[in-house]
Amino acid sequence: MSSLHQRETSLWHPFADMSAVRDEQFCVARAEGVWVYDQQGRRYLDGTAGLWYCNAGHGRTEIVDAVARQMRELDTYFVFNDVTNPPAEQLADRLAGLAPVDDAKIFLTTGGGESVDTAAKLARLYWVHQGRPERTHILSRGNAYHGTNGMGTSIGGIEANQAGFGRLVPDTERVDRDDAESLREAIERIGADRIAAFFAEPVMGAGGLYPPKPGYLEAVAKICAEHDILFVADSVICGFGRVGGWFGVERWGLRPDMITFAKGVTSGYLPLGGVVVGGRVAEPFWRQPGHPFRHGPTYSGHPSVAAAALANLDILEREELPARADALERPLHEGLLSLADHPAVGEVRGGTGLLGAVELAPDVLAADPGAAARLQRAVRDRGVIVRPLAKAVAVSPPLTVAESEIDLLVQALREGLDEVTTG
Ligand code: PMP
Repeated sequence: MSSLHQRETSLWHPFADMSAVRDEQFCVARAEGVWVYDQQGRRYLDGTAGLWYCNAGHGRTEIVDAVARQMRELDTYFVFNDVTNPPAEQLADRLAGLAPVDDAKIFLTTGGGESVDTAAKLARLYWVHQGRPERTHILSRGNAYHGTNGMGTSIGGIEANQAGFGRLVPDTERVDRDDAESLREAIERIGADRIAAFFAEPVMGAGGLYPPKPGYLEAVAKICAEHDILFVADSVICGFGRVGGWFGVERWGLRPDMITFAKGVTSGYLPLGGVVVGGRVAEPFWRQPGHPFRHGPTYSGHPSVAAAALANLDILEREELPARADALERPLHEGLLSLADHPAVGEVRGGTGLLGAVELAPDVLAADPGAAARLQRAVRDRGVIVRPLAKAVAVSPPLTVAESEIDLLVQALREGLDEVTTG
C-alpha cells in the first residue's frame, strides 16, 4: 500500500477534485535519479518524469551548483527593454544554435502555457505588421493541450478544459486530430487570408498521448506553407530529447515558423519556457523600428533559471540523452505492447520517443469512467508512478531510465491492470 498523507490541506491542487484530495494526498518528499520517495521513505519509480519534464533525472548536483553559483553572482534580474544578463544571453545563443529554424530568436518565459500565449500573440501581431490584420484565426487540433493561459485555453482541444469559463478568445478553431485533409477543409472554409497560424504538438500529450499518424506532420507543415499560414510546433513535452532531437520536430524533418518549449529545457528543476521564433516572424520586430512586442512575463530571462537550463543542457549533451531516448523507445514500446492482450486494455500507444500510453478497454471504462485514476493508484501501490489521462495512463520516464526499470514499470502496470479487472 502507498502511504498517503492524511491532513486537511490548504494547498489547492491543479486539476484536482479538491473534495476528494482535501483530506488525503500523496506526498513526495525526496527524489534521486529515476526514483521519488514518500515521507515514509518508500520509493517509487518516477515513470512520468514528474509532469513530463525531468528528462535528466532527479538529484543532479551539477544543476544545483550552477544555480547556487549564479544566485551568489546575480540572483535575479529582468531583461525588459535594453537590460540583459550573461546566462540569459548564453542560453538564447545556445538554443538558437540547436533549433531547426532559420535565423532563430529566443523569447523566454516561465512555462509552456505562457509560451503558447506568446507565440499566438506574436503570430497575430506579425500579420498586423504585414498589413494583414484580418489574419487572426488560429487553428489547432482536437484533443490538443496547449496549457491553461488565455490563448492556450482557447485553442485547446479538450472540451472539459474550456467548460464554464465563458467566452474565450474568438477566431480559434479545432480541426481533426489525425487527418491533414481536415486542416485543408478548414482553410478553404475560413479562407487562408483570415488565418494567422496552426498549432500542433508533434506527439499529442495530455490529450491522450497520440503519436502522429505517418505523414501527418509533414502534410500539415506543407499545407501551412502552401497557404502562407504560420506553423507553430508546441514541443513543450517533445523537446530536449523526449522524442529524440532537441526540439521534438527533427525526426519529421520539420522547420516550423515557431516552436514553443518548456519542461525538459531545465528538466523541471526551475520553471522555464520559451518560444523559438524564426527569422521571418521576427523580422518586422527586429528590423523595422516602432514595432515593440508589448508582452513579457516578469521572470523572462531570469539569470538563475537560465543557469539551471545551461547546466541541464550540458548534461543532456554530454550524456547524449536524446540519442538514449531513441535507443530506449523500442524496449519501452515493446514492454507496453506486451500488455495489449490484457483483457482490461483497449489500446497501447507510443513508439515515438520515451512516451507511451495504455488505454483501458471500453467495457472497463463503461463500468467505471474513473478507471484510469484507479489504475494509476494501483500501479503506485506497486511502487511506480504513471499519469492518468481521460481513458488511459501515460508513461514518460526520465531519459536516464535503465531497461530493467522499464521492465519494473511494465510489470507494475500488468499487476495494476489485473487489480482493475478484478475490481
Ligand atoms: N503545451 C503542451 C504541449 C503541454 O504539454 C503543456 C503542459 N503539459 C503546456 C503547453 C503548458 O505548459 P505549462 O503547464 O508549463 O504552462
